[in-house]
This record gives sequence, C-alpha cells and structure tokens, in this order.
Amino acid sequence: MELLHSGKVRDVYADGGDLILVASDRVSVYDVVLPTIVPDKGKILTRLSLWWFEQLADVVPNHVVSATDVPDEWEGRALRVRRLTMLPVEWIARGYLAGLGLKEYQKSGTVSGVALPPGLAEASRLPEPVFTPTTKATEGHDEFITYDDVVAEIGADTAAELRETTLEVYRRGAALAAERGIIIADTKLEFGRAADGTLVLGDEVLTPDSSRFWPMDEWRPGRAQHSLDKQYVRDWSSTLDWDRTPPGPQIPQEVVDATRARYVEVYERLTGTRWE
Ligand code: ATP
Ligand code: MG
Repeated sequence: MELLHSGKVRDVYADGGDLILVASDRVSVYDVVLPTIVPDKGKILTRLSLWWFEQLADVVPNHVVSATDVPDEWEGRALRVRRLTMLPVEWIARGYLAGLGLKEYQKSGTVSGVALPPGLAEASRLPEPVFTPTTKATEGHDEFITYDDVVAEIGADTAAELRETTLEVYRRGAALAAERGIIIADTKLEFGRAADGTLVLGDEVLTPDSSRFWPMDEWRPGRAQHSLDKQYVRDWSSTLDWDRTPPGPQIPQEVVDATRARYVEVYERLTGTRWE
C-alpha cells in the first residue's frame, strides 16, 4: 500500500479508492512527537472513535467503511475510511474554559473572537458551548481564527452547517459522557468533503487525544483539573527544562503507565466495556 502521509499519530495509506488510517502508539505534545510510545494508545483511540462514530451516526455521516477489512498486522488500530478532501479548519467546541481558550480569555475576554462573560476562572463552565475554530496548520502550531475567517475560507453555507454540526456533536457527546460521570471540556473535529460533495466527519472523534475529559466528581473551577487525556503528558512535560522543540524528551515508565491507565479508564467509563 502507498503511504500517503505520516502524521504525528496516524499513518495514512491509500487502498483503491479508500484510505487505511493506522493509529500508532506515538504521543505528541505541543506538536512534537516524543521518542517513547504508550502501549495500546492507538488501539484505544481507534476503538473509542469507532464507538463514538456509531453513537453519533444520526447527527453526522462519518468516514468509516470498515474496522475489520484492514491488513492483519494493523488489526485493532486501523480503520478503512472514505477518502475525503479535508477542510483546512480544526472544528473546536468548548463547554469549559481550559488550554488555549483560557489563555485567550485571560488576555482579552474572548475566545476566537467570541466575547465571554467576565469573571470566569480556569475550568469554569461556559454559559453555552462555543465554537472556537483554529487553522489546521501544515507546519507550526494551530491558531485561533474567527468565524468570519472560516466563512472566507470555505464559504458561508458550509461554515454555518459545520459550526452547527460541531456544536451538536459536542452537546451529544457531553450529555452521554455526563451520564457516565465524565465532563468533556472541549473537543476538536475534522471534516472533509466526499467525492459526491457530502460533508463527512473524518479523522478521530471524542478521544483523549482530541478532547479534554475530566471526572465530574473532582471538578473544581479555579484550578487545573484531574484529566483523563493527553493533558497529563503535557503537564508532565511542563515540569521539564524543555523548550518544546524537537527532539522531545523520553517519557519515564511511570508516566507511560499513568497515561495508558487514563486512556483505558476513559475508554471503559465511556463505552461501559472492559479494555482487554
Ligand atoms: P498532521 O497530519 O499535520 O501531522 P496530525 O498529527 O493530527 O496532523 P494524524 O492524526 O497523525 O495527523 O494523521 C491523520 C491525518 O489524516 C490528518 O492529516 C487528517 O486530517 C487526515 N485524515 C483523517 N481522516 C481522513 C479522511 N477520511 N480522508 C483524508 N484524510 C483524512
Ligand atoms: Mg490528528
């Protein structure tokens, strides 16, 4: 199979008219792939995405063709998907204030140009979920853009449709997770266009690489949250004397284990099934 693209986490192969998306166990923080893998991470991301795609099937069409019709060596970590022309936007919805959203709010009271009420703290719940797109940078870091920038990039109709779909995916996902004691603070989606023009949800969905997950019973605004997602690795890397440029640091075994445990926990709590 022809390797089309090796992303930070996924390798993308062409197979006939389809793609095979292979999720590795690689971890990236601040867009730098670290030299240490987290065992099973790729399989967890793949199985969790697949589960979410099914839960969300009545909200939005997705790119999955098959989770089993893939080469044996990648079984469990690969999906056969429809090849899409990806839109050059990261579709982000936030229900709580964290990460880059928190940073921009503290500076200007807005996120992606959306004015938020004053007096919010780290991890505060927003009055309603907001759409905070970023660029999908091919090089360097993604940056917040306004809704008008998205309109200029892809047109008003597509922008309006996908903003609404992004917020609906977030609301549905957050409601389902809430029943299982998990807050989804924010999430990033990717959409593309199929050959027939349909807008389709691609990539991964509501995973601990693309979202912030917080145990509800430990949620306390005004401080950093206990996070069942990649934030744990970012936080560990922030304790180091590392300037966030390659090469990234080796992850110590106990941090690898604790990261894997978080990914397994969020998979088990959301899907209600054991990870084996
Ligand atoms: P980058 O590609 O910039 O490294 P990344 O690290 O997030 O970003 P990965 O998640 O590792 O990338 O790789 C997945 C790649 O495949 C992304 O570029 C994503 O946009 C793309 N992709 C996902 N689903 C599809 C699809 N159905 N059709 C075409 N491209 C897709
Ligand atoms: Mg990705």
